[in-house]
Amino acid sequence: MFTHDYLTGLPNRQLLMDRIGQMLLVDSEKVIVCVINIDDFHYNNDFISYDYGDAILVDMATVISQSFPAKATVSRTDGDEFVIAAINDDDIDYESYMIELFERIKKQFCHEDFGSLTVSVGIAHSAFDGENASELQVSANQAMREAKKIKGNSCVFSSKLENDLSKRVFSLYQNINKAFRNNEFKLNFQPLVNIRRKQICGVEALTRWHSDELGQVSPAEFIPVIENSDIVHDFGIWVIDQSCKLIFPLLNELPEDFKLAVNVSPRQLLNSEFVDNLKITLNNNRYPPDKLELEITEGVFIDDFDVFIDQVRKIKLLGVKLSIDDFGTGYSSLSYLKKIPFDTLKIDRSFVFDNSDDENRVLVKTISKMAKCFGLSIIAEGVEKESYLNFLQDIECDIAQGFLFSPALDINSLEIYIRKNGGRYE
Ligand code: C2E
Ligand code: CA
Ligand code: CA
Repeated sequence: MFTHDYLTGLPNRQLLMDRIGQMLLVDSEKVIVCVINIDDFHYNNDFISYDYGDAILVDMATVISQSFPAKATVSRTDGDEFVIAAINDDDIDYESYMIELFERIKKQFCHEDFGSLTVSVGIAHSAFDGENASELQVSANQAMREAKKIKGNSCVFSSKLENDLSKRVFSLYQNINKAFRNNEFKLNFQPLVNIRRKQICGVEALTRWHSDELGQVSPAEFIPVIENSDIVHDFGIWVIDQSCKLIFPLLNELPEDFKLAVNVSPRQLLNSEFVDNLKITLNNNRYPPDKLELEITEGVFIDDFDVFIDQVRKIKLLGVKLSIDDFGTGYSSLSYLKKIPFDTLKIDRSFVFDNSDDENRVLVKTISKMAKCFGLSIIAEGVEKESYLNFLQDIECDIAQGFLFSPALDINSLEIYIRKNGGRYE
C-alpha cells in the first residue's frame, strides 16, 4: 500500500487517517485536524502550466511543514489540499500557528506576474466536532469551505465556541496592515509622577486604535496580533519616532529628569536592525537619548539571552535608558536583574491592594527594597487610590503612575496637564 504522496513526499490520505485514528486512541479529546486548501489553485494549472502548479505544491508542502510543530502529521490528501493532524496536549493556540503560516505564504508566494497566493483553512477539534477520523475531516472541510467565503488567508474553526473568538482575532489580523498604512494608530501619553515633588517626571506612550470596522480596540488585543505580523518592526519604530516627535517640543517645560517611556515588543528588540533604526530615529528627531526609556516586559529575554544582552548593551551605548515592565508577573529573576543593566523597575499593577491586603503590601515593599539594592529607580503602576499612594510614600517609592493622577492623554491634553501648575498636583 502506498503511504506517501509521490509529488511532495508527504504522508497521503491513507496514512493520515491511520495516524488520526492512533491519535484518538491516545487522547480522544485533544486531536486537532486542519484542512488547508489553496485558493483558486486551478488558475496556475489552467493559465500557466502544470509544471508551475507542481512546483507550487512542492513549495507549499515545505512551507506548511515548517510552520507546524514536528510532532504534527502534515499530509497532502488531494490536488491542492493539505491536512495537518496533531494531538494538542500542550493546549497550543493554533491561531498563532495559522497566522505564522499566512505570513510565510505571503512572503514565499508573491509572484511578480501572477500575483500572490492565499489559502483557506478549516479546523476541527475532537472535543466538539467528530468522534472518528472521517467525521473530523468532514467537519474541518466544512469549516474550510466557510473560510473560502471570507477569501484570502482565512481560518474558520468548526466548533461554534472557538469560532466566535477566532473570528475576532482573524478580523484584527486582516485589518491591521491596512490600519497601519492608513495612520489609524494614535499615541496617548500617561503621566508618571514624582510623588515626593508632586510633579510630572515622565510619560508612558500608549498606542490607541480606533478602527472604522471594529470600533475601539484595546492594545491588549492588537499588540499580540502586531507581534505576529510583518509590520512589527515598522510599527515599533513608528511608536518611537512619533512619540519623540510629539514630546520633543515640550521638553523645555519639563523637569531635568523627565523620561519618555516607550514599550518595546520582544520580536522588535531582537531584530538585528533595531538598534540602527533607533539611532536614526533619535538623530532625526534631535531627541536626547537619555530622556528615552524603553520598557521591556520580563518574559522577553528568556529565549535568546545572548542576542538579548548584546542588543541591550548596544542600546545602552546610545545612552537610552531601559526599564523592566510588569515586574512580578513573570520570572522575577534576580539573576537577570544582576546581568542586565536596567535603570528602572516597574512594579506590576496586579499588586495594587485594598487596605486589607497585607500580602501584596509585603510584596511591593520587598520588591522595592530589592530594586533599590540594585540601584534601580522604581515606578509603581496602577495607582488608583489615595491609600496606595500613602503606602508608596511610606516605603519611599518615588514614582507612580495610575488613574489617580491621570489616564493616558492625547498630546493636546498632555500639554494642558503640563502647563497647569507646571505639571504639579496637590
Ligand atoms: P503596560 O505597559 O503595563 O501599560 C500600562 C497599562 O495600564 C495601560 O493600558 C494603562 O492604560 C493601564 N493603566 C494605567 N493606569 C492604570 C490604573 O490606575 N488602573 C488600571 N486598571 N490600569 C491602568 P493599555 O493602554 O490598555 O495598554 C495595555 C498594554 O498594551 C500595555 O501594558 C503594553 O504592554 C501594551 N502596549 C500599549 N501600547 C504599546 C505600544 O505602543 N507598543 C507595545 N509593544 N506595547 C504596547
Ligand atoms: Ca509599559
Ligand atoms: Ca506595565
